[in-house]
Amino acid sequence: MKIENEDALDNFVICHKCFTLNEEIAIKDGSKACCSECGGVLYRYDSKLIDHGLALSLTGFIFFVLANLFPLMQIDILGSEQFITLPKTIFSLFDNGFYIVGFICAFLIFIFPLMIFVINMLLFLLLKMKRGEKLTKELLVLLSHITPWSMADIFFISILVALVKLVAFGQIHIGVAFWALMIFVLIDIYITKSIHLSEIWMLRKRILLDKDNK
Ligand SMILES: [Zn+2]
Repeated sequence: MKIENEDALDNFVICHKCFTLNEEIAIKDGSKACCSECGGVLYRYDSKLIDHGLALSLTGFIFFVLANLFPLMQIDILGSEQFITLPKTIFSLFDNGFYIVGFICAFLIFIFPLMIFVINMLLFLLLKMKRGEKLTKELLVLLSHITPWSMADIFFISILVALVKLVAFGQIHIGVAFWALMIFVLIDIYITKSIHLSEIWMLRKRILLDKDNK
């Protein structure tokens, strides 16, 4: 198939299971479109996704802020107390001369997760207001680039591993930020699993591009 205009590609959807190219058709609210070859779900249309996504990303953002403001844990080893906070762990890497590791950690566990939630909030807000045709496209492209690099979940698992190891050395008190981070990671996983970028892309097309035709 020869496609002269790149925008023409927008009318086709590739199946993630069998890689068949399917033509995109308008479907009813609350229904889903399936692949013509394997029957796998191609996309859904759910107008409630905007409110859902906005609420989830806003909640996630609040928990992310809480996770950074309060101590993750307090460790008592040989009488000396130490509070560990998320920003402190990153700064201590820089203080000890691990600049590259510190830089990578700052991006993977702080900057990218924060960016993803801010972009999500902005995206759903713009869709709700039916605005920002170009901006939403750019935000979605940016989101697809940084999503694989957000590793707050891996960081949380590494905290759990560290906790198990540290228990042998002293007393550990789990702080507010620990629970906040846990909820944040759960929301993060839920968003990535339940809201696909392609679905937001479809929604954007429906809301922002179709309104001109009406
Ligand atoms: Zn298929």
